[in-house]
Order: sequence, then structure tokens, then C-alpha cells
Amino acid sequence: MPRIDLHSHTNTSDGTDTPEELVATAAAAGVDVLALTDHDTTGGWDRAAAVLPTGMRLVRGAEFSCVSDDGRGGRVSVHLLGYLFDPAHPAIAAEQERLRGERVERLRAMTAKMADAGYPVDTEKVFSFLPAGATAGRPHLARALVAAGVVGSVDQAFAELLYTGSPFYVPKADTPVTRAVEMIADAGGVSVFAHPLARKRGRVVEPSVIADLAAAGLTGVEVDHRDHAPDDRALLRGLAAETGLVMTGSSDYHGTNKTIPIAAETTDPEQFEALVAKADGVEVLTG
Ligand code: AMP
Ligand code: FE
Ligand code: FE
Ligand code: ZN
Repeated sequence: MPRIDLHSHTNTSDGTDTPEELVATAAAAGVDVLALTDHDTTGGWDRAAAVLPTGMRLVRGAEFSCVSDDGRGGRVSVHLLGYLFDPAHPAIAAEQERLRGERVERLRAMTAKMADAGYPVDTEKVFSFLPAGATAGRPHLARALVAAGVVGSVDQAFAELLYTGSPFYVPKADTPVTRAVEMIADAGGVSVFAHPLARKRGRVVEPSVIADLAAAGLTGVEVDHRDHAPDDRALLRGLAAETGLVMTGSSDYHGTNKTIPIAAETTDPEQFEALVAKADGVEVLTG
């Protein structure tokens, strides 16, 4: 059975592998189908495609930073995976560029807050972990905190200092998730709600929100993800069966910024075929 991992990051956003290293890591792990899904950018696509080994398939995608109703009268930030959309679609290209700019300013602001509070971090050090044009994120600040010896790991930096709502947290203006679903579909792609019930990251949406999105054009839901408890996976499987959403599983690999290995969670081949059958923006590449 093919090994299919539909969610991974490189140093074009907040992972630590280069796009070339990601493909090599996946090949070494026996991955047959890999989706590259950096946050708010398609900047790594061509580099990954250029080193695709014979027989491996590459699904070009991105993880969109979104905001959603939480189903309880509030708002919550959520992640949406878009696959096989046309990267030149004007609305997507403009929104990704806007978000990358916003993320740089926000990372500067978080770094300044920490420096003002006496932590040994500065903008130069934080941005030294970010290749030119890559998408900035809290993991870059986390790495600077690890390098300075403030914390022992990226995970610890999030748990103690960088969690959503911490005194050093600065929000960013994310895309309304219904708008992102629409843009991705418009660009020929398909959309999958990433880790919707990852409760350790903060508040999550009510299941009714996922059902509403399914009715509004969402293609699938990420069920098997490390941050999902067994009962939440069961809940999502039931919801997907009821609403016709495709079910995926994936590692959300971030290199050494997270401890999960590539392909630690995978997608069923039938579900993968159902997902790609609905897309016609760009092709699945075969090495
Ligand atoms: P940002 O996009 O700047 O809001 O940062 C969120 C990113 O930080 C996510 O995409 C994850 O890659 C990472 N992240 C979130 N929580 C943790 C955690 N507890 N440990 C390590 N990385 C995390
Ligand atoms: Fe990330
Ligand atoms: Fe995510
Ligand atoms: Zn991710």
C-alpha cells in the first residue's frame, strides 16, 4: 500500500529541512506521495519538484492561516490546507503576500516584547533562522530562545512563552476561512481543514462549524494528526461520513522544530484518490 503523507513543512516556512532535504527525508522513509504545505507560500514548490526521485509523487500545496467562527459566538484561528491550486491565482498570490508581510511585522513585535521584558533575543538573531522570502512564524523566535539557552526546546518555548494568549503573543490578521475555501476552489484546488481539534494549541471549533464548511465547499478534514485525541478522531470520522468530506492523515512534519517523524500518520489511498479527483489547478507531479 502506498505511503501517503499530505502535510509537511520546509524552511520556506517554519520547518527546518530545505525543500531538497524534505524530499530526501521522505524518500528515505519510503513515502510514495508527499504533499508540501508550507504556511502561506508556494515558494518551495519548484525546488522540491526539481529533486523528486523516480516514482515519488508530489502534491503541491500550502497551509493557509485563517480565522473562523468557533460555533459558540467567538472567533478562533484555524489552518486550512489547500492542494493543487493555481499558485498564480491573483487573490491567492495577493493574500499570501499580505500575510507573509504581516507575519514579519508580528514576529518583530513579539521579539521586541520579549527583549523589553529582559529576554536575550533580538530581531537579527530571530531572523537569522529565516531564509529570504520565507514565511516568518513563532518557531523562528522559539529557535532563538533555544539558542540563547532560555528554554531547552521549541516545544518548551511554546508551552511556557509563545502560546496563543501569552503576554508576548501578538495576533495577526488571518483570512476568513470561508473566503480561503472559496479562493482555493476558484484556483482549481481542493481544501482540507488541518488539525481542527488540536486542543493543546488553544480553543477549537465546534463540530457544527466543520459541517457548515463542508456545505460551503470544503473538500476534506485532517483526521489522523498527532494533536488529535482518539475520541476526537472518531468524532471526525463520523462527521466526515455524514457530510461527505474526504478524510486525511498526515505528519505535519516540521524537521527538528517538532519531534514527529515524516509519515508518522498517513492517508488511505482511496481517500487520496477521492481528494485529487476533485482538483484541476495544477497536476500531481511524478518523479
Ligand atoms: P504562527 O504561525 O507564527 O502562529 O506559529 C504557529 C506554528 O507554530 C504552527 O504552525 C506550528 O508549526 C508551531 N507550533 C505551534 N504549537 C507548537 C508547539 N507546542 N510546539 C512546537 N511548535 C508549535
Ligand atoms: Fe507550522
Ligand atoms: Fe497547522
Ligand atoms: Zn502544518
